[in-house]
Amino acid sequence: MPRICATFLPVRWCQGSGGAFDNTKLVSLKPPRLWPTHFYPAAAVGGRRGFAGIIALRKSSGYRRFRYREFSATATTRQKMASQLYADSKAPVSLLTAKVHFENLTQTEKLYAHHFSKAAHYGTRIVLRQVSPESEAIFDFILSFYGAVKASSSATFTSILTGPPYSLSDEDAQNVVEYFSQFLGNLGNYKSFGDVKFIPRVSSSTLAGAVAATGREDLVQALAKVEGAMYGTEPGASVLLGYPENGHVTGYYPAAPSSSSGDDDVITKSEIEAIHDAVGGVYLPENTRIVKESGGDQFVLLVASGVEAPKVIDGGVKTEFAVPAISESAKVTVKFGDHGREMALIAESLGQAGAFAANPTQKAMVDNYVVAFGQGSMQAHKDSQRHWVKDIGPTVETNIGFIETYRDPAGIRGEWEGLIAMVNADRTRTFGALVNSAKKYIDQLPWGKEFEKDVFTPPDFTSLEVMTFAGSGIPAGINIPNYDDIRQTIGFKNVSLGNVLSAKSANEKVPFVKESDLALFEALRGPAFEVQVGIHELLGHGSGKLLSETAPGTFNFAKSSPPVSPIDGKPVSTYYRPGQTWASVFGALSGSYEECRAESVAMYLATDKSLLEIFGHTETSTEAGLADDVIYIAYLTMARAGLVALEYWDPVSRKWGQPHMQARFSILKQFLEYGDGTFVKLTYSDADTFDDLEIDLDRTKILSHGRAAVGTYLQKLHVYKSSGDVVRGTELYQDATTVPAELARFRDVVVRKKMPRRQFVQGNTYVGQDGQIEYREYEESPEGMIKSFVERAV
Ligand SMILES: [Zn+2]
Repeated sequence: MPRICATFLPVRWCQGSGGAFDNTKLVSLKPPRLWPTHFYPAAAVGGRRGFAGIIALRKSSGYRRFRYREFSATATTRQKMASQLYADSKAPVSLLTAKVHFENLTQTEKLYAHHFSKAAHYGTRIVLRQVSPESEAIFDFILSFYGAVKASSSATFTSILTGPPYSLSDEDAQNVVEYFSQFLGNLGNYKSFGDVKFIPRVSSSTLAGAVAATGREDLVQALAKVEGAMYGTEPGASVLLGYPENGHVTGYYPAAPSSSSGDDDVITKSEIEAIHDAVGGVYLPENTRIVKESGGDQFVLLVASGVEAPKVIDGGVKTEFAVPAISESAKVTVKFGDHGREMALIAESLGQAGAFAANPTQKAMVDNYVVAFGQGSMQAHKDSQRHWVKDIGPTVETNIGFIETYRDPAGIRGEWEGLIAMVNADRTRTFGALVNSAKKYIDQLPWGKEFEKDVFTPPDFTSLEVMTFAGSGIPAGINIPNYDDIRQTIGFKNVSLGNVLSAKSANEKVPFVKESDLALFEALRGPAFEVQVGIHELLGHGSGKLLSETAPGTFNFAKSSPPVSPIDGKPVSTYYRPGQTWASVFGALSGSYEECRAESVAMYLATDKSLLEIFGHTETSTEAGLADDVIYIAYLTMARAGLVALEYWDPVSRKWGQPHMQARFSILKQFLEYGDGTFVKLTYSDADTFDDLEIDLDRTKILSHGRAAVGTYLQKLHVYKSSGDVVRGTELYQDATTVPAELARFRDVVVRKKMPRRQFVQGNTYVGQDGQIEYREYEESPEGMIKSFVERAV
């Protein structure tokens, strides 16, 4: 599967303790597909034996490896563990804004997007049930309590809570609303990144007091029902999603109603596998859950469908399966109608969307979705995906279903997910203009044309603005479908989600940027990012030639007089042999190295005024940002990214966990080390904590030092890649990404100042009496998050 490039995978993608780890255990999981990061969130979690840290790396083989360290339980570590599980405080909240792009759609397109969006959100309760047994009840409690409090006044939720009859402290009220918001942002009480539980910072007695103050007995009951699960941190294993037999939590294997919670009632990993072996060839597992009947060897395979007696059944008449691997009498019975209410609403909404499809391919796709969700047919879902892949570059892009399987401990059952996004017409135009001028800019790069392709071919890159992403978390990019046979025979789509990647929120703290730079940084980080992404994706990854022996005896360069390296003035002596590729020659290094090359191309070309003009930045464009200011912020952003990258570097193993961040760190090093070292300086007065660490970038030296530094580096990166010089390329990159002591000492302050993970508030659409469609957006705040869910009414 091709790697998705998430150019600006931000720091907020990762979270957690950032503490010390060691390699006491390695566990491989199934290959992830969705998240474009090679690094999975680090998190401090509790284990059965006490406190543990988790970090996971995605290896080039496509496997995640979890490393963790266990400590024996003491009162202190237990206490520390519980406090590590508190909900985030002051997490940035951003609106997933796509209104302007929605407004640009035709009425037909708007209706298509609207009905698709409704369908996606109708899966909200499915996700809640998939996460944990308590999540749906907590969800209902949150919305009901919010409604009860707000019924009395139009003031904000927190200000009502601080007045009588609730009389919470400001801090307690804030903690309540922040827990609610984080819960809704994750669609459950486990983080969608890291699968770790989070609990309210407000005490259970304070929350219970506020609930009692509503005078609503039903709410008191509702809280009492979920309170234990909401606050519980014992046993330690229960704070992680995973196999129930290991004490972890999952929603994919719900307990039978008659369950006594005895050990015999808990489904085991081997039973799950045996059932899949017996049934999986007939019923694909993505839209299923399994219930183990009390104490025995009888199981029910629940299939999500809008009807309980479907006309279309993937297994034909076969709805019972023996599972001899469990026992002679073991049996699985297939039962349709799981999530029946939601699946029926989803199928109905999609049927309505189908009336507004843009072309026959879309219509066929939607028709298959209706069967897939109404009847519970995964074969119909596969058919929908066959059409989806062929629907190239639609104005309204969608995907929906039980897609990603990370959170099922067995890694085969899919979490509900629905994407509705629009092409950003302005960006498409800008990127198109950049592609048209590609030759002009590639010619400026610091190597001769022998190291460049004869004809520029822009890489596959689509950037969309997300209107709706229903599910537990929003990725920065997607690469689907996951069905391997469809990927191989028909293909897949590779999409970057522009407004997710570029999200920021008002008054967001930006550590390490000088006070005097902050206003400009805030104003131009978006535009500078756009320039950076465009160059990185199109001219960065799109440039370069691999000097190769394409077939035995056939070369794509003059073998008798090889290209002369601009580094040492000598002809290159290496090249790719038949069958060799960039990744096969450079191995594990290739991903990060290539990101570094693309980032360096972006830095090198971002100073070109004619290129900036394509993006609307000139000497006089005060509105869009002056060209020189954009250049400055682009360089400052890179320097800052290189510094905060240290979070993704493990000081114990001295290894990097995230390829883009590793790349940016190495570019910062070029800035710091170039010439007399006056271009970028890291300044501080507090030498104990480095709490006032700041980046001092001399903007008068961007061309003379910054661009020169990156040019020297880029030339080597490129020529070694182009000529397949793995020896010198490896040496260069390992040296550039080595963290010296004088930079390693800043890692603690980087980790300490890290922001909690971003939460996204999504809008809702409504069709009025007059047929007009309203796109309603909400405040970028925890309360805006809650309100958006109240009005979504799923
Ligand atoms: Zn990239």
